[in-house]
Amino acid sequence: MTFHWMDTFRGTGKPMTYPFPLPDNESQRLLALEDYDILDSLPEQAYDDIAKLAAFVCGVDKAMVAFVDAERKWHKAKHNIAPVEVPRGFAICSQTVMGTEPFIVTDTQKDPRVKDIGMVINPPFVRFYAGVPLIDDDGMVLGTLCAVDTQPQSMSEQQTEALTALGNQVMQLLRLRKSLKVLEMRERQLSESKRRLDGANHELRRLTITDELTGLNNRRAFNTALTRNTLLANKNNTALSLLVIDIDHFKTLNDNCGHSFGDTVLTQVASLLQQRARSQDFCARYGGEEFVVLLPGTELQGAAKLAEEYRETVANTDFDSEKLTISIGVAEFRGQSPEDLFDAADKALLTAKRQGRNRVISDQTVA
Ligand code: GH3
Ligand code: MG
Ligand code: MG
Repeated sequence: MTFHWMDTFRGTGKPMTYPFPLPDNESQRLLALEDYDILDSLPEQAYDDIAKLAAFVCGVDKAMVAFVDAERKWHKAKHNIAPVEVPRGFAICSQTVMGTEPFIVTDTQKDPRVKDIGMVINPPFVRFYAGVPLIDDDGMVLGTLCAVDTQPQSMSEQQTEALTALGNQVMQLLRLRKSLKVLEMRERQLSESKRRLDGANHELRRLTITDELTGLNNRRAFNTALTRNTLLANKNNTALSLLVIDIDHFKTLNDNCGHSFGDTVLTQVASLLQQRARSQDFCARYGGEEFVVLLPGTELQGAAKLAEEYRETVANTDFDSEKLTISIGVAEFRGQSPEDLFDAADKALLTAKRQGRNRVISDQTVA
């Protein structure tokens, strides 16, 4: 027969609550219980099986795995009983958690320790109770494994031993549960650390290929891109051109307007270059006041045209009312090494400087 504890109070005229004793270490006990995160968890077959075995061992039809919370006794597993929980004062288990030994009552009506407890004087009128406390490794009594009946019963030593052994199995399940929780937490921490590390690595990689001042690619990134693009151009037989750009008389600008103004100008020139470049073009600050633009798929003529646009744009821009010009060397890839391609454009740049600056010279012109 199953019952619901609320039935107990309907029309019985009996009080709703009953006093119950508190262990000396009640607060620590509740904290320990909370640590297992078991209260209000879903039913689990392993606990149900143990409750069933407890009933079988004690020769009764009702048993439960119960945890004693501040105000209630909550059932993790119940065999032939309905309530998920009962008030703590209603339960004989409130007595069991006061000690560390099995609590056996062969006839509740004759035992002064329990004869006035809720479930004894109300339906279901429990007459037999056998419970073992569930004690954790720190000695905290978390709950009970108990078997009950509405008829008085005796309990042999072997039965008590078997019930105790089953109680130990409940504790073993709880230990596993806690270890699993710790493992899950570690796993979460580990994946969070990995996420942060990935982020930091990504940022580190970005920093190693980025020019700090202008935000353009740096020389290291350019060298990699130059090698890669010459290989691709060779393999696919496609065009590739390179611009090497140098700001004219930049030292004078620095001397006249200050180094930090010079920095601002470098950043502005960088963004002018970047704005006009196509998505496949690769702009970088080569160093100092020198920039490079790698143009995959672009032949010399197209590269010289873009260079001329760059030159005009810079010449027509007001840098905080200062004027500025750039010189550009252009070279087209003709199967030579990456270094030789760079040298060709650099040589053209040198010619542009020699010829008076503010001009574009292509390597064909040089040759
Ligand atoms: P040229 O027309 O022949 O290129 O003359 P230039 O003055 O531009 O060339 P030079 O090589 O004599 O001077 C380059 C100047 O660029 C000197 C150096 O202080 C300056 N410079 C290099 N890096 C930076 C930087 O990061 N910020 C600033 N403000 N100036 C820089
Ligand atoms: Mg220079
Ligand atoms: Mg210069």
